[in-house]
Amino acid sequence: MDLLDCIIIGGGPAGLNAAVVLGRCRRRILVFDTGGYRNKVSHGMHNYLTRDDILPTGFIDLAHREVVKYGGSILQKKIVNGRKNKEEIFVVTDDEGTSYHAKKLLVATGLSDNVPNIPGFREFYGKSVFHCPYCDAWEVRDKKIAVYAKNKEGWELALALKGWSDQVIYLTDGGNKIKPDQRAYLDANGISINRDRIACLESRDGALTHVVMKGGDRIPCEAVFFVNGFTPQCNLAEAFGCDMTRKGVVVTNLAQQTNIPGLYVAGDASKDMHFVVVAAAEGAKAGVSINKELQKEVSERRYAEARKK
Ligand SMILES: Cc1cc2nc3c(=O)[nH]c(=O)nc-3n(C[C@H](O)[C@H](O)[C@H](O)COP(=O)(O)OP(=O)(O)OC[C@H]3O[C@@H](n4cnc5c(N)ncnc54)[C@H](O)[C@@H]3O)c2cc1C
Repeated sequence: MDLLDCIIIGGGPAGLNAAVVLGRCRRRILVFDTGGYRNKVSHGMHNYLTRDDILPTGFIDLAHREVVKYGGSILQKKIVNGRKNKEEIFVVTDDEGTSYHAKKLLVATGLSDNVPNIPGFREFYGKSVFHCPYCDAWEVRDKKIAVYAKNKEGWELALALKGWSDQVIYLTDGGNKIKPDQRAYLDANGISINRDRIACLESRDGALTHVVMKGGDRIPCEAVFFVNGFTPQCNLAEAFGCDMTRKGVVVTNLAQQTNIPGLYVAGDASKDMHFVVVAAAEGAKAGVSINKELQKEVSERRYAEARKK
């Protein structure tokens, strides 16, 4: 059996930054990734110092080079299950049935957004349809912005977007979640509400121009921000018995440790803000914690052996 120091599942910013830290600690690591990092469709990455506007694919390519430089390996494979054997070794299995063994496990498998199932949303997702104003609102400042929120409350997002544009409209797509006091806030801030069902997004020459309502209205619109929840990309940590929040992400301590000894979670899959820089920072913290734990185990074992002599 080839026993690795750490297996990292997920090759987004969280997993890859952990891989760099652990590689530089001379640990034997293997990263598994299916290439579905959350911002893959984005027109450009923001809020990461020195990498403003870089395409996410370009960012991941740079990160791969750094992982490899420090001896890490990346396999484009999906991990489908995992367990701890009776020697407390993590055993994970890919979708072709091959198993891999490691002393520690880091899950950094991220989330995916529930993009509304309306014609045009998928097509413009990451270009003119977004979920995060901090990531993308600067690029559409002063433009006509629609907020989509059917099953979730979107009034706070609508109010927030007023910081970037005066032309904000709230679309409920037939939903009826707005409470009277929220409505009063929206009114006071000049945000109109349209409760009709949405038929599709309309574009001209590749640019979003309107939201078309089922009742026939065509609402001028250059960008849509939606609130529709997210789904974990992988339920491995939950299957291991990790404590979860009600939103479906994993509870960790400040060192990214879960309640399962030796199992760490970092990035969007754990409970903190969803930013590349935060995911990368959590990956770095997990890397340090894992290295310290491995170091401690070795020094304690050697100390115990020396005492026996
Ligand atoms: C449209 C859009 C734009 C965004 N723009 C920005 C921005 O400008 N700035 C910013 O800071 N943040 C931005 N974000 C948020 C950012 O993408 C996330 O916070 C970040 O990607 C989280 O990193 P992560 O490593 O936790 O997860 P991810 O980047 O999602 O990576 C997880 C990886 O795990 C892999 N994986 C999942 N399951 C398995 C499995 N079973 N086996 C193997 N591999 C698996 C996936 O394929 C994926 O590659 C944006 C998000 C979206 C959707």
